[in-house]
Amino acid sequence: MAVLNILVAVCLTYVAILFLVAFMADRAAMRGRAVWLRSPLVYTLSLSIYCTAWTFYGAVGNAARSGLEYVTIYIGPTLVMVGWWWGLRKLVRVGRAQRVTSIADLISSRYGKSPLLAVMVTLMAVLGTTPYIALQLQSVTLSFAAFAGTAEGARPADSQSTALWVAAGLAVFTVLFGTRNLDANERHNGVVMAIALEAVVKLFALLAVGVFVVWGLGGGLSETLARIDTSEIGRWQVAPGRWAGMIFLSAAAFLTLPRMFQVLVVENENEGHLRLASWMFPAYLMLISLFVLPIAVTGLERMPAGSNPDLFVLTVPLSEGQTGLAMLSFLGGFSSATSMVIVAAIALSTMVSNHIVVPIWLRLAHGGALVSGDVRNLVLLSRRFSIAGVLLLGYLYFRVSGGGAALAAIGLVSFLGVAQFLPAMLGGLFWRGATRSGAIAGLSVGFAVWTWSMLLPSFGAGGVLSAGILAEGPFAIGWLRPQALFGIDGLDPLVHAILWSMVLNTLAFVAVSLVSFPSPLERLQGAQFVDVFQHSGGRQSWTGGMAQSEDLLIMAQRIMGAGDAQRLFQREAQRQGLAGYLPEPSPDFLNVLERELSGSVGAATAHAMVGQIVGGASVTVEDLMAVADETAQMMEYSSQLEAKSAELARTARQLREANEKLTQLSVQKDGFLSQISHELRTPMTSIRSFSEILRDTAGLTEMEKGRYAGIIYGETVRLTRLLDDLLDLSVLENGQVRMNVSHGSLGDVIDHAVAAAGGAVGLQITRDREVEAILVETDLDRLAQVFINLIANAQKYCDAERPELRISVGRSGGMLNVDFTDNGSGIPRDAQEVIFEKFSRVSDREAGGAGLGLAICREIMTRLGGKVAYLPGQGGTAFRVSLPERAQLAAQ
Ligand code: ADP
Repeated sequence: MAVLNILVAVCLTYVAILFLVAFMADRAAMRGRAVWLRSPLVYTLSLSIYCTAWTFYGAVGNAARSGLEYVTIYIGPTLVMVGWWWGLRKLVRVGRAQRVTSIADLISSRYGKSPLLAVMVTLMAVLGTTPYIALQLQSVTLSFAAFAGTAEGARPADSQSTALWVAAGLAVFTVLFGTRNLDANERHNGVVMAIALEAVVKLFALLAVGVFVVWGLGGGLSETLARIDTSEIGRWQVAPGRWAGMIFLSAAAFLTLPRMFQVLVVENENEGHLRLASWMFPAYLMLISLFVLPIAVTGLERMPAGSNPDLFVLTVPLSEGQTGLAMLSFLGGFSSATSMVIVAAIALSTMVSNHIVVPIWLRLAHGGALVSGDVRNLVLLSRRFSIAGVLLLGYLYFRVSGGGAALAAIGLVSFLGVAQFLPAMLGGLFWRGATRSGAIAGLSVGFAVWTWSMLLPSFGAGGVLSAGILAEGPFAIGWLRPQALFGIDGLDPLVHAILWSMVLNTLAFVAVSLVSFPSPLERLQGAQFVDVFQHSGGRQSWTGGMAQSEDLLIMAQRIMGAGDAQRLFQREAQRQGLAGYLPEPSPDFLNVLERELSGSVGAATAHAMVGQIVGGASVTVEDLMAVADETAQMMEYSSQLEAKSAELARTARQLREANEKLTQLSVQKDGFLSQISHELRTPMTSIRSFSEILRDTAGLTEMEKGRYAGIIYGETVRLTRLLDDLLDLSVLENGQVRMNVSHGSLGDVIDHAVAAAGGAVGLQITRDREVEAILVETDLDRLAQVFINLIANAQKYCDAERPELRISVGRSGGMLNVDFTDNGSGIPRDAQEVIFEKFSRVSDREAGGAGLGLAICREIMTRLGGKVAYLPGQGGTAFRVSLPERAQLAAQ
């Protein structure tokens, strides 16, 4: 009893010291004298909450059962710290830049501050961590019972009350120091200091037990090593799959465990601390695992068969009568358990309170309205209740599970549970394309697989899942067997669960991300996360000055042109007294560069571009607005330019067309002249020859004289008519003609035309005089001239045996149509337009004129506001004369 009392007294004293340390640290922090509190050493020691009671006691137990496998739990974090410190730096930078308070906060804020994601991660974290807290409570009660057992026999009934007391004590401590104030950046100086102290205690305790075992009991180092070699442990084989799986798992959990995230990111004061931690924390892990094997071997040798190897660290010194050392060892285990529980409770309560309790409370109590200043108290209160709740959950789990076999595997179950956050977290940090839907899909799938293949089977056959389901799958669906999903049998259950949950999680995350579209806020947050080094951190840039100058030169060349940019850089370098092209990116130089660039791209854009490269300034909303303004102006300017160039193109086209027309006209003129001379020469030649005959030939008979004179007369008439037509056409074309508009009946005009065409001898004309009785208002004589021409043409060219001409009148589209259709063989399609040209003749009948008639008709009709056109498809040749119903004379 005395031993137990002393133990209780030691424990209370130890707890009192922790309280004192935490209290003093908080006081010092509040007075602003926290420099030594926040040293990299304290940060590194605080990371040691990775080593919980599970590792303090469990590593030895693990070694006794499965040889060197326990080492994997230390290798994972070591690899992360040594090989991935740059990734950690990014994580820490993002955490600080975004003022992240938990891993739920990180993931939700990366994916557009999604409340759903925050709630999901929180619930999953609670689910994954509660059994782990129970495990810590169990280890404390077991170690307590170990003492009690040696003192006066085991009293199992006490174990539950011990656990309750421990849980209550931890709750009080966590509430006191974890929720003292709502620090803007959520740092807990007192707690961190206390767990740093605990880190030292547990390391010291384990080393002390180790030294005792090796030199006190084992007779020195070499003998102990020899005994390890000959023991069972030395013969354990390495199972490569399990090793790889466990190393991956511990590395992933190191990043995603809520308590690790708390100390690693949230409590981080300065990312520079990572430098020390990156080698010192692995060293700590190495020290703490140094004596695991000797203790395990000694325990196996000296302790009675069947004793729990998980408690060797405690029971070996106890059985050797080293009560003081045993107490130290107990304190080590106690430290491991309490520091883990405290930080986990803080991390979980922050999530539960921030993402579940407070939002619900605000919605219920205030209907979402603005809340007054008492929200701080609300948050504190909800956090305190959440801490109590988390610990209560842990305690309940401990009681319900009975602290039995189910607890043994809980460490790994928990690890894999929280490892499901990894794809969403890493994807969020390094991949802009990751979306909220992708994260939700990945997390859901991962957790479902984890629950089914790891969590539920961990309770053992007949626990939650019946032995039948484990062996044959639900409803005897073979490929759904929890430990042989998709029919893949024979894998170690742990490796199997890691493989499927992580692979399916990642696949779902990537696939859904690829097919879904991020909201603007997600995009913005994505950019902030992925490019965190460009958006934050001031001049702490990790690229050297010259590397920046080179980037600046590349950018400047793109904007100003290679020659100008190089000249500018060389000039500036010379001014700085440097040889070569690259000046230091001094503020002066940057100003000059910005000014130069702004000439091309605008001041705001230049500022943003330079800022992007030197990382000196984050891009503010104002910057963005200014950039947008400039862009708008440039677009305006360029659209003006576009309009101008379109106008120029139009003018050029018009000029080209005019030029073509002129050329065409000139060609036409040449053709016209040669036509005229030809038309004139033919009659002139015959006039000349016959007049010569008349003059020079003696003895011509009267009859001959009469005939020749007749020919000369005929040719003269033809010439005159030709000249008349030419004159008429030229007058019409020049627009020098006046139209004499008057009223008259259309029928009368046609009568007149038929009569003028010589009564249309030899041509049968059909008309409908009733329809023709329409009053028209136009130049009646000119209209008659058109009609005469068309009738005369039918007379001349209609090649039917009994030529007929039908003159019909109709209306369409506000025009009056007079159609002249004969029963000849018509005009070939390709000549239908040509006949309206001057001098164009299709038939080579002698009766033919000079080919000016239709050209004149077209000119006249244009003047009269109408038109004349060939009307195809009428059987014979058909022309349609259309004129406006009311006079609409073209400009004269
Ligand atoms: P012309 O003054 O020589 O009669 P037009 O300009 O009136 O010339 O007619 C041009 C050509 O159109 C004629 O040479 C003739 O070949 C053709 N043409 C005009 N009307 C008819 C018609 N009713 N039937 C057949 N061909 C015609």
